Amino acid sequence: MSGLFLLLAQAVVFFVTMAAIFYKRKTIGVGVFFCILGTMHFLETYLAAVFFVELPFGLISAGSTALFPGKLALCLLLYIKEDAESMRQPTYGLLAGNLLMIVLALMLRLYQPLENLPANAPGLGFVDQMGLLMIWGTLLLFIDLLALVVIYERLGKLATNTIMGRIFVSLALVLTFDQVFFFAGLHLLADAPAAAFFGGWVAKVCAAALFSGMLTLYLCYVEKSPLPTHAVADVFDRLTYRHRYEKLVKQVGRDALTGLQDRGRFDTKGPAMLQTASRSSMPASLMMIDIDRFKEINDQYGHPVGDRVLCNVATMLASVKRESDELFRYGGEEFSLLCPDLPAESAMAAAERIRAAVSSTQHADLDQPVTISIGVASFPAQAQDFATLLARADAALYQAKALGRDRVCHADLHPIQTSKERLTAGLADRGTTGAW
Ligand code: GH3
Ligand code: MG
Ligand code: MG
Repeated sequence: MSGLFLLLAQAVVFFVTMAAIFYKRKTIGVGVFFCILGTMHFLETYLAAVFFVELPFGLISAGSTALFPGKLALCLLLYIKEDAESMRQPTYGLLAGNLLMIVLALMLRLYQPLENLPANAPGLGFVDQMGLLMIWGTLLLFIDLLALVVIYERLGKLATNTIMGRIFVSLALVLTFDQVFFFAGLHLLADAPAAAFFGGWVAKVCAAALFSGMLTLYLCYVEKSPLPTHAVADVFDRLTYRHRYEKLVKQVGRDALTGLQDRGRFDTKGPAMLQTASRSSMPASLMMIDIDRFKEINDQYGHPVGDRVLCNVATMLASVKRESDELFRYGGEEFSLLCPDLPAESAMAAAERIRAAVSSTQHADLDQPVTISIGVASFPAQAQDFATLLARADAALYQAKALGRDRVCHADLHPIQTSKERLTAGLADRGTTGAW
């Protein structure tokens, strides 16, 4: 068999088999594809060290020409059909697997004295190759995979409609980069002749053409769905850093204006609090808090001032609640406070403290303080489930509004007087902050 035909056959068999397994990923799972990619990586490394064929432009390694460019093409296929997150898995997996292989090979090399079986002497030449050159090659592979995706995306901005050209240029550029730097290592560490550089490079560019052809055929005739586009910055973030993702996670469930937890979180945490209370036979309370005559503030001062007042009230509520209480923006100018382990009487006192703190706070934009009304309901006295607890707290809030606002009402207890009524009765509001 001629050397050229051998390399061609290796490349085609490798790609077609892997593409078929990739195609089946929805049924058998993409893990099968990853496993084979990792296994082939070992064969590729072995062949690159020991197996060369004679071609017109020099001695060419089957590992570097058929398997290595094929692996890059398959990783690109993974990126194109799936996403950067999937592509990250072989990128990190191959890096970690390679480093582990080096460490294990070096440990084997330390073993003395070596048992030499008459027929099966270990190939120490190969194990010795697992040195600096392998570490260098592994780091280059990591950079290759990152660069492949970035170049592919950049080219998409220049010429989106020539998919084969885009794949070929991406592969050829990355393989050229790899050849330059890997050969530099080979030259320095193993004294490889400069002539071998050119032959290896020609072989890799030919391989890039062959694999881009096969990859295009696959994308055009086997899996024809529209190709997703990815932003370059996004690719980099997903592949190397997680901070954007983490920032996003932090924002999820938060109200954009006040920064408080949103209604969605309330709907999840409310029933959870009641479940915990019920399991541990502990009380729990819910406060529904509504700013009084807020519409008038908007009408008189404008919505931007209304927004600032809303934020100020949110900050005030957050500062006077207990640490274990959970505060939410329930809707417009309404807040809800989940108070685990707080029975009805204490909840009433706590709500009164909150009300007093808000009504005694001066706002820079307003002539007078804003007031709030609070409806309180408690478990287990008024409700056994969260929906009932919410309905009872809401009814108590309406009662507070009906009785003239700026007051606290409990679903079962008598309403507390307003600030003005207290002053008239000679009672001053208590302190504005601190735990109760
Ligand atoms: P009440 O004492 O009966 O609660 O009267 P109210 O005016 O507070 O109640 P109402 O429900 O009539 O009005 C609530 C107002 O809150 C109406 C809406 O414009 C305003 N609002 C809701 N969300 C926001 C917001 O995010 N920013 C601003 N500035 N206003 C908001
Ligand atoms: Mg209101
Ligand atoms: Mg309201």
